[in-house]
Amino acid sequence: MIKPKLLEQFLVEPGTTVNLKHFATDWTETEAARELGKDVTKERASEILAESHKRLDAAQERLYASDTHSVLLIFQAMDAAGKDGTIRHVMSGVNPQGCQVYSFKKPSTEELDHNFLWRYMKALPERGRIGIFNRSYYEDVLVVKVHPEWLGPGQPTHPDAKFWEKRFEDINNFEKHLTRNGTLILKFFLHLSKGEQKRRFLERLNNPEKHWKFSEADMAEREHWKDYQKAFEEALSATSTKRAPWHVIPADRKYAAHALVADTVTTAILNLDLEYPKVSPEKMVKLEEARARLENKDPADSVEPPPA
Ligand code: ATP
Ligand code: MG
Repeated sequence: MIKPKLLEQFLVEPGTTVNLKHFATDWTETEAARELGKDVTKERASEILAESHKRLDAAQERLYASDTHSVLLIFQAMDAAGKDGTIRHVMSGVNPQGCQVYSFKKPSTEELDHNFLWRYMKALPERGRIGIFNRSYYEDVLVVKVHPEWLGPGQPTHPDAKFWEKRFEDINNFEKHLTRNGTLILKFFLHLSKGEQKRRFLERLNNPEKHWKFSEADMAEREHWKDYQKAFEEALSATSTKRAPWHVIPADRKYAAHALVADTVTTAILNLDLEYPKVSPEKMVKLEEARARLENKDPADSVEPPPA
């Protein structure tokens, strides 16, 4: 487990104005890494991930049994920052029946004909489950801020600052509603450097097994890097709240991003202090009756010994 104090450096303090340049993209430059010692960081990260898997599996079982809360994990990032890999690594230890992943792509005509939160509302996790949004309603204040022409019918062609403020307000109100109703929300921005994105794109181009991952659209979006960083800064500043905080995770080293996200998620779920449901006195009597029968005190329930 990483000390909670060290994890705080990745949290966007509510009410602050985010400057992404002040957040590391390379884990080895962070205080957390310095404390662990540079040489051991990679091994330590895999230990943390392995520990988190065990703790997360136990936490998820408790979440399911107590049936009082749900968990919503939101992942946003530039292309090739490793959203898919992070989700896969963090959730690899968890019972697949207890979690659902939704990847949001360009909205359909039907989705554009509804309010912008509609398609995400339909995908929210039920009580007892972990829901993961691979991209989310934050796209509606990010990609469409860079490309307002993608806002869809009935929306302004030149949205002003007020338009985005209202969307932030809608998002904050939506998240307030969810958290009041038992949803734990954790938001992760995987913070990649432009240089590392270039390296990963080149790797996709140079390795035939990775060609399928390369998309020309990703190159086009890279041209808008500055606009995206600005849109992220504005979104993180306006929507990191105590109830639904943003974490800026250094993403240039995949092993570090996986360990940091796994540890943050696990600790937050365990902090809910969920309990297994208490059994009523009537139910306790039934349990005792069942035990007595299975312990063969009831001849009607005796079991033949297995064949030799
Ligand atoms: P990967 O490339 O790893 O498979 P991805 O999440 O990048 O995963 P893509 O199909 O490449 O998936 O891209 C999805 C695209 O949909 C992104 O460019 C994203 O910005 C866009 N998108 C998602 N939500 C919206 C939205 N609400 N409005 C407009 N575009 C959106
Ligand atoms: Mg993509």
